[in-house]
Amino acid sequence: MGQGPSCAGNQENGMFGAVQGGNLEVVKAMLERKPSLLHETTVYDRHSALHIAAANGQIEVLSMLLERSVNPDVLNRHKQTPLMLAAMHGKISCLKKLMEAGANILMFDSLNGRTCLHYAAYYGHSDCLQAILSAARSSPVAVSWGYARFVNIRDDKGATPLHLAARQRQSECVHSLLDNGALVCASTSRYGFPESTPLHLAARGGSLDCIRKLLAWGADRLQRDASGRIPYIVALKYRHEACAALLNPSSAEPLVWPSPLKFFSELNEDAKALLEQALMEANSEREKNILKGLGCSLNSPPHSDSGMDDSISEASNAELCCICFEQVCNIELQDCGHQMCAQCTLAICCYNKPNPTTASLTPPVCPFCRSTIARVVVARKLKDYGDADHDVADFSSSKLRKSRKSRNFCEGSSSFKGLSTVGSFSKMAGRGTAGRVAAEDEFDKP
Ligand SMILES: [Zn+2]
Ligand SMILES: [Zn+2]
Repeated sequence: MGQGPSCAGNQENGMFGAVQGGNLEVVKAMLERKPSLLHETTVYDRHSALHIAAANGQIEVLSMLLERSVNPDVLNRHKQTPLMLAAMHGKISCLKKLMEAGANILMFDSLNGRTCLHYAAYYGHSDCLQAILSAARSSPVAVSWGYARFVNIRDDKGATPLHLAARQRQSECVHSLLDNGALVCASTSRYGFPESTPLHLAARGGSLDCIRKLLAWGADRLQRDASGRIPYIVALKYRHEACAALLNPSSAEPLVWPSPLKFFSELNEDAKALLEQALMEANSEREKNILKGLGCSLNSPPHSDSGMDDSISEASNAELCCICFEQVCNIELQDCGHQMCAQCTLAICCYNKPNPTTASLTPPVCPFCRSTIARVVVARKLKDYGDADHDVADFSSSKLRKSRKSRNFCEGSSSFKGLSTVGSFSKMAGRGTAGRVAAEDEFDKP
């Protein structure tokens, strides 16, 4: 791509060098002497001072320029706006400042017809991506264009931001985009190989993390590109063996995040974090089995849970899910109030092959009372199973074991650090003293 504003400093008037270096006083003095400098550009790329400030993250200079009512959407040779350059270089404070000043998020460059959202996705700056998406939700773009359409905006070759992020192995951006309604099965027109899906492009890029996220959001392993190839064949061609193993249509199907279900879009963050963690955990178990034969090391260490299950005494039944008797009961179904673990909640709500036309018509029901699940929340109080005959010591010892187990659970999933979930999950899993005290407070001690 023809850009490089960072090396555009050695211009005839020296101002661009001062902007690039963030010398606010020098820039101010030069503008006092010659106000017309404000509208000059570099010779070749025709970057304005605002472009250079944005690309180099010079927030003070950028703010000063904007105060002098420079057009925030000034274009360079490639019709790139300062906002695009901030998104490309991950300069989050400049990006936010430009949007505050009214920069248009719906501008297209002349190189590939890309927007600032494409730039953030391609270069993997998920903080910038999030900021653009939240601006899009509240800006006129959402009204005139529709938010979903903006998230799935296409460049000249039909690539959405998700296609670019998948191709460039930017798994955090892949996750954010999917979470915001990016279409997981959209085909490009000419980007990559014609009619590639994000899964084809992730197979080309070879990012296991992108692939597991796309699969968990319902990407179809059997979708073909224009030459009839499924993503599995693409991964084989580029010798990404672990990726190919997951993409092999004969491998076990992953659990799929039930995004079409309305109640999931209304999930509170904590409940969502628990469920997402459980989903990734279940899929990583499956991955381990698939990859076992390959001799390639996954970046998640093996779980040490197998021995732990036996060591849990009956006393801990009080906190165990009474469907699987394995996991902590941490999710409450509403409106009925029945509780179960996140894994079992997912088992009820996930479909291996979500059918978008029927999924929303058949909401999942509570396995205990068959009433429709309107919402799921984090269970605030552990259910009382009438274990009055167990003394306090039993309770706290089982609690300790449970904390240990939960910690293993978290550490085992370190490969999913990209998800925003791990932090809040470990908070809830009762890590450390504070968590344990809080958990004990939930019991009425005799
Ligand atoms: Zn369960
Ligand atoms: Zn119920």
